[in-house]
Amino acid sequence: MRKLLVALVVSTALSGVAQAANVFPLSRATILAGSPFDFKAEFSTVVKPEDVKITVNGQDYKTVFGKDVQFVAEEKNKDKVLGSAVILRGLTIATAGDYKVEVSAGSETKTVTWNVYGTGAAPKAKNVIFFLGDGLSVAHRTAARIMSKGMTEGKANARLNLDDVPPAAFIGTSATNAVATDSANTMSAYMTGHKTAVNAIGVYADRTPDSMDDPKVETIAEALRRQTKKQIGIVVTAEVEDATPAAVVSHTRNRNDKAEIVSMLLDVKPDVLLGGGSAYFLPQATAGSKRKDDKDFIKLFQDAGYAVATDKNELAAKAMANGKLLGVFHPGNMDVTLDREFLKKGTVDKYPNQPGLVAMTKVALDRLSKSSDGFFLMVEGSSIDKMSHPLDWDRAVVETIEFDQAIGLAREFQKANPDTLIVVTGDHTHGVSIIGTVDDEKPGTDMREKVGTYADAGFPNYKDENGDGFPDKIDVSRRLFLNANNGPDHWETFRPKMDGPFVPAIQNEKKEYVANEQYKDVPGAVFVQGNIPKSGDSGVHAVDDVVLQAIGPGAEGFRGYMEQSDVYKVLADAFALGTKQTN
Ligand SMILES: [Zn+2]
Repeated sequence: MRKLLVALVVSTALSGVAQAANVFPLSRATILAGSPFDFKAEFSTVVKPEDVKITVNGQDYKTVFGKDVQFVAEEKNKDKVLGSAVILRGLTIATAGDYKVEVSAGSETKTVTWNVYGTGAAPKAKNVIFFLGDGLSVAHRTAARIMSKGMTEGKANARLNLDDVPPAAFIGTSATNAVATDSANTMSAYMTGHKTAVNAIGVYADRTPDSMDDPKVETIAEALRRQTKKQIGIVVTAEVEDATPAAVVSHTRNRNDKAEIVSMLLDVKPDVLLGGGSAYFLPQATAGSKRKDDKDFIKLFQDAGYAVATDKNELAAKAMANGKLLGVFHPGNMDVTLDREFLKKGTVDKYPNQPGLVAMTKVALDRLSKSSDGFFLMVEGSSIDKMSHPLDWDRAVVETIEFDQAIGLAREFQKANPDTLIVVTGDHTHGVSIIGTVDDEKPGTDMREKVGTYADAGFPNYKDENGDGFPDKIDVSRRLFLNANNGPDHWETFRPKMDGPFVPAIQNEKKEYVANEQYKDVPGAVFVQGNIPKSGDSGVHAVDDVVLQAIGPGAEGFRGYMEQSDVYKVLADAFALGTKQTN
């Protein structure tokens, strides 16, 4: 015991002297062979260039990397000197294997090990359709099944399309800087094979304040352009420059760099790009623009050969137009299905002709499948998450049903094109569960007493008489009761929000989020004490694993527990991205 204590004291003392440098890519990074990435080492003190030593597998780094690093004498954060750094941009390693990289300068030292992996020589799949249910949790799918298909004597009356895609893996979603995650970090890991920090896309998060200078890693879109002639499609109901679609193509430490992300979308030029977010395409002088410059990205996309659609009629008219296709159907996030198709709430009065996810997915599949080289299509059910944050479970579940219908289209496509891999997953979960039902017919006026649990829950009475897969009515008398395990102070009304998405909390004069009094007088409403910091206006992401499902050639690569970054390896292998397929 005494020996151990002495050893601890010695090692603590030593680590006080030898400060560790930061090296990117981080240790245990997995890197696709031949895929460009930026190498950076950050020292916590100012060092001399001649003192910097870098070896790779014991050799001088230049023999392995083939290039010299650039020395940065002082990195600064405002006026504070952070230390020196070395950077090498656009590095590639062609040979698969483990690479031990040792960096030192003065008393600072850091050793990282990377695994560079190759892929099979021949593609397993011609096409990959990647479905990302943003925030998709188990409760969403269970509720979607019950609400859409019904249940009799405890058995589902029918199955979702999701239910026939075999579960393949549990995915850990934590970020490099936190156990919790956001859409940027997870989707970036799926689309690059590198885990990163919350809010970061296509980069490792370095220490400098500039969000555009962080060490980059290659995105799947860039890898496809580099190695194949495959077409690329992105279909979302969020802004097309939102974190999930952005992660297919772009590089920034800050997902809120939306004006820059639009420019990065134009750099990569997806063949099909459909969603919301037109405010970041318009020059600042145009009403509703969110740009701070005079660039007109609608015009720039048109000049680059895009047909542009701004509502569902134009989408239908231009569905098979020549060239590439851009559809931006809303200045921000598109309205959700419940508002768009049924209640006509949200901003549907202003933008009455927004297409849904199914219509957009159909156009994308029709166009992309014309290519003999195959395609990668990313389809996001964006608002499963965007409605889960404000605890609007009815809207989140209806979004899940729409997402499932888009998966149904892809499954039909796959029947005719069996060389297609379909992946369905989420990027993180929400802390939500179904605990039973709320039954208006129960006696009394106390809504809490109308909550049915265990045997008392019975079954909800949604109906789908027109067979469109959506409940004919959301405000039925006996409905599912979903509940979050976290959130701001709010009023639980036990009812669907028929006047537009739920706004659980609003800011007071102290900038704290407090329960929105608008719901206080809903008969039977109950005050729910929040349990997250008062700076938060909504429920937060959960750290629980997400379920990944996959079917088609290459699906066998998904199994057991995987990090988000491991998902990319399977995609890269399905497309043989380690092998050049163009001449
Ligand atoms: Zn979210």
